[in-house]
Amino acid sequence: MVVVVVALAGVGAWGYGHFRHIPVSVNGADQQVGADTTLGKLMRDNNDFDAKPGKLLSVSGKVLKAAGGDPVAYTLNGQKIAAGDADSVKLSENAKITVKNGKDVTEKHDVQGTPVPFNVVINGHGVIQKLRQVGKDGSNEVWTGKISGEKVDKGEVKKPQDLIVDTFSPQPQGKKVIALTFDDGPSQYSGPILDILKNEGVKATFFDVGEHAVAEPQMEQRMLAEGHQVASHSNTHPDMWKLNEQQLQSEISQGLDNLKKASNTTTKMLRAPYGNFGADQWRYSNGLVDYNVIWTIDTKDWKLPGAPAISNEALSKAYNGAVVLMHDGGGDRTEDIAALPGIIDGLKAQGFEFVTIDQLIAMNGQ
Ligand SMILES: [Zn+2]
Repeated sequence: MVVVVVALAGVGAWGYGHFRHIPVSVNGADQQVGADTTLGKLMRDNNDFDAKPGKLLSVSGKVLKAAGGDPVAYTLNGQKIAAGDADSVKLSENAKITVKNGKDVTEKHDVQGTPVPFNVVINGHGVIQKLRQVGKDGSNEVWTGKISGEKVDKGEVKKPQDLIVDTFSPQPQGKKVIALTFDDGPSQYSGPILDILKNEGVKATFFDVGEHAVAEPQMEQRMLAEGHQVASHSNTHPDMWKLNEQQLQSEISQGLDNLKKASNTTTKMLRAPYGNFGADQWRYSNGLVDYNVIWTIDTKDWKLPGAPAISNEALSKAYNGAVVLMHDGGGDRTEDIAALPGIIDGLKAQGFEFVTIDQLIAMNGQ
């Protein structure tokens, strides 16, 4: 009988027919709720604890509909609960509930985008140009609201990312190194040059023309087999300053593809013909090459000045970290072949070690 009285007293006190109440917390504040209460009922009974649904906004930010945005947002024990599911979620003891304002929503809109071209930043000076970061265009957007009809210039919605090239000249400490480089091959003159390098125990770098490389793949393979570095000198040796974006990309890609075909070389190192590679060419190539390599000593072999003059040019101007330009293609290279042994012997006598461009780059800062 005593039990019945207590139970009835409970009914009287709460008045809703709930025999048992459980503690929960809402936004950190303790609440007592009937044991069979759903999340939906709790929210309705408490007017969402003053949280409001989001607004529907026009593209300029005017309110189109007060409760037209996202509904009030609930979580239960850290899990999001969709408003439509709230009535089927029963609350358990010590449930942690949060209720927040719904987010405002911008009306559906058309986007008219205009690209913002990236900038090309070339840092420093030197013989090695290294791509540090590719460029990415940004965009300006104009939004036209589908409900309001408003047209709003949103400005630079996406900022462009600079293309960055670092330029430097490696000058290793405590040793004297020099890099011999040969352009425009392979050709009938490459073999004799390779023979001399082999006899002298010297490694060099060959900047090869793609269409020549596929014509003489065995020469490409020999260069690699004998420890030399092979990089690209374009596909057909154009002046890259005169190429448009599409032409430049195709020259570079085909040049690299042909090196790959000839000898399975994968490289993204370029020496642009005539060294003509500036901000526009970095922009157009945007990631197709990661290095452009210039030279610091032009032997002027292309003028056919005679072997002694070529040799004198190299020997009189040599310094630590120098990159010497010679040719193993692109014309009669008899003078280069005649000059090369004397150049190598003379440089050895001056105390130089011979490095490839990759090796020279690796010495940067050492
Ligand atoms: Zn060339």
